[in-house]
Amino acid sequence: MRSNIGFSGDAGERVGFWTFVDRSFTGADLDLAISRYSIGLGEVGPLGYLTAALEVIGFCAGGWLVYEILKKSPWCASCQAYFRTIAQKKSYFATFDQFEDYWEGTGSLETPEAEALVAGEYSDRVDVGGAVYLLTDFRGCRGCGDRLMSDSGQVHVAGKWKVSLEIERNVPIPKGFNVERFVQADPPSPVAEAAM
Ligand SMILES: [Zn+2]
Repeated sequence: MRSNIGFSGDAGERVGFWTFVDRSFTGADLDLAISRYSIGLGEVGPLGYLTAALEVIGFCAGGWLVYEILKKSPWCASCQAYFRTIAQKKSYFATFDQFEDYWEGTGSLETPEAEALVAGEYSDRVDVGGAVYLLTDFRGCRGCGDRLMSDSGQVHVAGKWKVSLEIERNVPIPKGFNVERFVQADPPSPVAEAAM
C-alpha cells in the first residue's frame, strides 16, 4: 500500500505512511529498567504490533465499559451532575401482555392512574418463559431536585434471564409524586446476579 504522505525516517529518507507506521511500532526499543540499570533489549520487532494491538483493544474495552456505565447513569445538564438513586423497586410480569399494560400505562407519570400503576405490587418472582423482570431506579439530582424513573428490563428466555436493550427508559417524575414510599432498608439486587 502506497501513500502520498511522506515521513522522515531515521536516516532522513522519505518513507511511505505504512512504512512509517511499521517503523514506529517495530522500531521501538524495548528497554527493561531494573532499579538504576537499564538493559536494552534492542528493537521489539513483530512484538511491537502485538503490544500496539493490545493497547488498542484495552483502550476500546475500557472505553466501552465506561460508556455502558455512564449510559445507565442519567446526567442533569443544568447542574452538570449525575442523578443518584434514591430508591429501587423490582417487578415481575408473568406474560409480555401484562408487562406491556404496565409499560404503556407508565410512560408518563403525570396522571394519578400512572402513579397508581407504579405504586402497585409486582414483586412475586416468576421464572417462566416470556416473563419480564423490571428494575426501576428512582433517581434525583442533588442540585435542582429534578427526579427520574429509570427502568431496565430482562426477559426470561430458555431458562435464563437476559437483559433486554428494548426495555430501557427514563421517565421524568413530576413534583408531588411520592418516591420515598419505595425506599427500603435493604435494596434488592438485580435478578441477574441471583440467576447466573
Ligand atoms: Zn439538576
